[in-house]
Amino acid sequence: MKKILVTGGAGFIGSHLCERLLNDGHDVICIDNYFTGSRNNVLHLLSNKHFELVRHDVTERYMAEVDEIYNLACPASPVHYQYNPIKTIKTSVMGTINMLGLAKRTKAKILQASTSEVYGDPTVHPQPENYWGNVNCIGVRSCYDEGKRCAETLFMDYHRQNNVRIKIIRIFNTYGPRMHPNDGRVVSNFIVQALAGKDITIYGDGRQTRSFQYIDDLVEAMIRMMATPDDFIGPLNVGNPVEFTILELAEKIIRLAGARSKITFRPLPADDPKQRRPDIALAKKALNGWQPTIPLDEGLTRTMTYFTHRTLI
Ligand code: NAD
Ligand code: UDP
Repeated sequence: MKKILVTGGAGFIGSHLCERLLNDGHDVICIDNYFTGSRNNVLHLLSNKHFELVRHDVTERYMAEVDEIYNLACPASPVHYQYNPIKTIKTSVMGTINMLGLAKRTKAKILQASTSEVYGDPTVHPQPENYWGNVNCIGVRSCYDEGKRCAETLFMDYHRQNNVRIKIIRIFNTYGPRMHPNDGRVVSNFIVQALAGKDITIYGDGRQTRSFQYIDDLVEAMIRMMATPDDFIGPLNVGNPVEFTILELAEKIIRLAGARSKITFRPLPADDPKQRRPDIALAKKALNGWQPTIPLDEGLTRTMTYFTHRTLI
């Protein structure tokens, strides 16, 4: 049994990860400041004596004796990370320094939840890990993109300078139950709109693309990545390589929900990437044949069931 710290553990991805780690028989400490996460996401874990929930902001130091750290704390939806951009950068940079310091002192292995946003609006498609990206450093998305890029830099420097055992994964758009209904990201927005029979809001002309990964596939990859030998540190793309336009996503969600919603078009937000699809050749090799197993239709149906149930209670 390991003692494992999950920062941002009360968020969408974090809550699923905590659940999986507990099921695997570990002791889990979840720290979160509840900015976008909530106690509700981990309510079902509170009675487990191997689970500890702590209200804490990662921009402040945190002391504990742990074997592994998953560093997830950071708002992930453009709406939320742009709400207080200075805080977003502080979370990515100061939070990461604090967690790397903890890993250094305790000799814990530490995994960074980085993002496909490090590739910005990519000019190479699909994106392999050795692509350096096309990121605007002064735009409205920069607090997130550059914060996450700096976090990767910090991980590499703590590794080279202090031999900290690191793992970096670059997560591509992931969705599933426990996304917040007001999260602002495309899958939750469209599902909430379709279930309420409201108009589906496409930003731009809907020809921009994304590749959507179901949460269970991501959690499996995170666990496998943490278990790789110490000399494999990434960065590693983790996502579903099947690419859809946002218009196709909207039509799919309307069909699956059996909704009568109409599609409306709104202005495209600044610096919105035009295309995104992971090259996952390295992940397949490094994670013992891992690949996404949940097709979009199935994942969307499961997510809709969650949102329907959530609305009813
Ligand atoms: P989320 O917003 O649901 O989760 C983030 C969690 O971090 C929340 O519980 C929030 O309250 C917490 N948090 C934020 N700032 C904090 C701080 N200063 N101190 C302590 N806790 C703080 O988002 P998510 O989708 O679960 O994302 C989790 C991680 O995965 C993030 O780091 C995100 O950048 C990364 N990621 C997610 C996706 C995706 O598609 N979901 C894609 C790429 C990367
Ligand atoms: N989007 C949209 N309607 C919405 C929310 C998002 O058309 O209600 C678009 C957004 O402009 C982007 C894509 O969907 O092109 C994915 O947006 P999201 O915020 O989910 O994540 P991103 O990949 O941009 O970080």
